[in-house]
Amino acid sequence: MLTKEIVPHVKFNGNETIETLDILIEEMGDSHVSTSTDTPMRAGAFDLSDAEKIKAIEEHFKSIMDIMGLDLTDDSLKGTPHRVAKMYIKEIFQGLNPANKPRVALFDNKYKYNEMLVEKNISFYSNCEHHFVPIMGKAHVAYISSGKVIGLSKLNRLVEYYAKRPQVQERLTMQIGKELQQVLGTDNVAVLIDAKHLCVASRGVEDNTSSTVTAFYGGAFKNEQRKNEFLKYLQFDTAF
Ligand SMILES: [Zn+2]
Repeated sequence: MLTKEIVPHVKFNGNETIETLDILIEEMGDSHVSTSTDTPMRAGAFDLSDAEKIKAIEEHFKSIMDIMGLDLTDDSLKGTPHRVAKMYIKEIFQGLNPANKPRVALFDNKYKYNEMLVEKNISFYSNCEHHFVPIMGKAHVAYISSGKVIGLSKLNRLVEYYAKRPQVQERLTMQIGKELQQVLGTDNVAVLIDAKHLCVASRGVEDNTSSTVTAFYGGAFKNEQRKNEFLKYLQFDTAF
């Protein structure tokens, strides 16, 4: 794997400049460095309708396949550009559009349950924003009610919404944590994500066994005891 250490030794002239840029681009991707908590979106990101986006992506994807030398008149391949475009906008990247954000209804915590609630093993599929290949894993989320409670399935839906974007795992973890804090009106939120990145497993360093763990601890979860309680619940085997 390319490392930062070798970059300073490359001279910035002629073709080497392009090589250096290429090394830096690869390095940024393999290191999975992200730049902000918010997904970087350009101005006017939603000026086009979904249908217009699908049409435009379809044309571009057709070009990519054509450049690679694939025969787009082949029955098996000719529908692929449309399928990919539709999948991008309507499925795997639909979380880019705030219009698709799940509506969350809160309920009063009438039974005064004031211990932590943990929703564990929420499976999700996302995509790495550096390589556009899948990230798959499990999210575990917890909160301690400040008087309001949320429908359990909404926790899954919120994880899914933020996963359906080009992502880096650190940002995904923080976006889910901050959203839950806002929705639930409490800082007492914890998120732990354990995921496998295909850009690490199937290419690059080609490590098929490693997984990446990231965590977000807010409010009471910054307390060691609470944090340990949360982590202990995650060790329980489910009975079914
Ligand atoms: Zn990647």
